[in-house]
Amino acid sequence: MLRKLYPREYYTSTYIIDFDKYRRMGYKAVLFDIDNTLVEHDAPANDAAKKLMYKLMQLGFSVGYISNNDEERVESFRQAVLDSMPVEEGKENPYEDRIIYIHKAGKPLPKGYRAAMERLNTYEKNTMFVGDQLFTDIWGANNAKIRSVLVQPIAKHEEIQIVLKRIPEKLILFLYRRKHKLRDRG
Ligand SMILES: [Mg+2]
Repeated sequence: MLRKLYPREYYTSTYIIDFDKYRRMGYKAVLFDIDNTLVEHDAPANDAAKKLMYKLMQLGFSVGYISNNDEERVESFRQAVLDSMPVEEGKENPYEDRIIYIHKAGKPLPKGYRAAMERLNTYEKNTMFVGDQLFTDIWGANNAKIRSVLVQPIAKHEEIQIVLKRIPEKLILFLYRRKHKLRDRG
């Protein structure tokens, strides 16, 4: 049971992940949680997020935002990223099809992850997921049988229901680290 909550890898931040390495391993799409994974909860796309997305595009990745948040939040995040991409004047944005979102994704159910893979034309073995919560993000990625990467949440001020979930999360992470004798990376 607990195994389904264990991430495949754990990093202190999304922004230290070596995505070149995963590209060389054959991964073609990165699915992301947004809130506390890429930016603070409900914060707009910032320069760091935009820069990372541009880098992922250059590496040849497709990107999907898989969020349980509502459409307005998720769509506007994706649009801000798209708008930050360099586009030739008078040409269509070439990244439209490679940056997608799934709102109200229903994590930890696998359906949102699967819908994203279908739209990006990838499958379980060449798709990875990055998120900050075990009980939604990681559990869901494991349910969808894609590589699950946990990151430390960005925000300092968290909503109370998230804070409460962190307590069992810490226990499970402790057991996970003990089992795998892992140290934090980065
Ligand atoms: Mg999150």
